[in-house]
Amino acid sequence: MEKFDVIVVGAGSVGMAAGYELAKKGVRTLLLDAFDPPHTMGSHHGDTRIIRHAYGEGVQYVPLALRAQELWEELSGLSGKTLFARTGVLGAGPLGSPFLAEMQVSAKQFSLPLEVMSAEEINRRWEGMNLPDNFYGCYETNAGVLYSERCITAYRELATSLGAVLLTHTRVTDVQVETDHVTVTTDQGSYRSEKLLLSAGAWNPALLKSLGLQLPLVPTRKTVAWFAADEQLYSSEKFPAFVFELEDSIYYGFPSIDQTGVKIGRHDGGHPIDPDQLDRTFGTYPSDEGDVRSFLETYMPQAAGPLQQGRVCIYTLTPDEHFVIDHHPEHKHFIITAGFSGHGFKFASAIGEAASQLLTDGKSTHDLSLFALNRL
Ligand SMILES: Cc1cc2nc3c(=O)[nH]c(=O)nc-3n(C[C@H](O)[C@H](O)[C@H](O)COP(=O)(O)OP(=O)(O)OC[C@H]3O[C@@H](n4cnc5c(N)ncnc54)[C@H](O)[C@@H]3O)c2cc1C
Repeated sequence: MEKFDVIVVGAGSVGMAAGYELAKKGVRTLLLDAFDPPHTMGSHHGDTRIIRHAYGEGVQYVPLALRAQELWEELSGLSGKTLFARTGVLGAGPLGSPFLAEMQVSAKQFSLPLEVMSAEEINRRWEGMNLPDNFYGCYETNAGVLYSERCITAYRELATSLGAVLLTHTRVTDVQVETDHVTVTTDQGSYRSEKLLLSAGAWNPALLKSLGLQLPLVPTRKTVAWFAADEQLYSSEKFPAFVFELEDSIYYGFPSIDQTGVKIGRHDGGHPIDPDQLDRTFGTYPSDEGDVRSFLETYMPQAAGPLQQGRVCIYTLTPDEHFVIDHHPEHKHFIITAGFSGHGFKFASAIGEAASQLLTDGKSTHDLSLFALNRL
């Protein structure tokens, strides 16, 4: 049986980043993935993810977001790939929106550039916007868009060039945790290591359950759709990415990048699923297209053209939508990264760094208290 220092179960957004960080430190690392990352079966496909720093979900995230941004830019330099586009990101919603209030708290506390704008100013600056008078927005100029699949490819190439072993199409079927080592069984063979990182995204809950740890992590079916849009108004050279917190829903989206159309998704809601049983057909539910189209018709009417394409993707939700980044409660050599609740990609570079620190040093330079497992 081959032996490694660390086995990473799931080489997706977080796992591949951790694999790179570990390999960089000379740690003998085995990355196992059931598919061939990047791929369309988990949580990272669909070309793009928003990265924001003035964080509406909680000021505690800001240092992690800033470190993640630094690491993405470093990765871009090392790999020679364009991984980030500084499109700017507009947060918008009705007066009194808690999300917008928290963005301002985050910006103030960390001296981040943030323009607070009235609906009228927004509609004038971006003619494709159609905000009612009782709305306002917070525009973050330094924020933008990550090319998610390209990011994973970049980490994959660097990690393997530094000596990490990546086995694709290799599904982990069993994990045995002993006091001083771990044995991982896959459909291709068994492997042994001193330490383990579990970063299997939507498959984490089932793997953890088989290890006797039942956590309230809910894999949830989500969709995104691209709509033909007036390029004069919505191209990424002119229009920002956006997050709208409405009274009863949250929508996020992207300008038209390379004339692919405006991409948009609904953050709240979705159907709990088993990732092995999920029908990945867009349009199974009328709301797949209906919700986002009616959002566009209201707030960005010239972007509500014909549907160009739609994708099905998976969120893994925790009850409070904060992540899990922690040691296993009984095994200090077993690290769990899970429950990224639809907003984890932007942090994946920094979480990969944090996970590698937990594995090699037993602690992290990042403040991970918000992500403790025992809160669940
Ligand atoms: C539609 C959509 C839009 C999003 N938008 C944003 C956004 O704008 N900004 C943002 O920050 N975040 C966003 N997110 C969230 C973000 O993409 C996820 O939080 C992040 O990708 C989760 O990373 P992960 O490593 O946990 O999962 P993944 O990237 O899915 O990686 C898990 C890996 O584990 C592997 N695996 C699973 N089971 C096994 C097994 N048994 N054996 C071996 N390998 C296994 C899988 O094949 C997969 O490669 C969005 C998510 C979705 C679905």
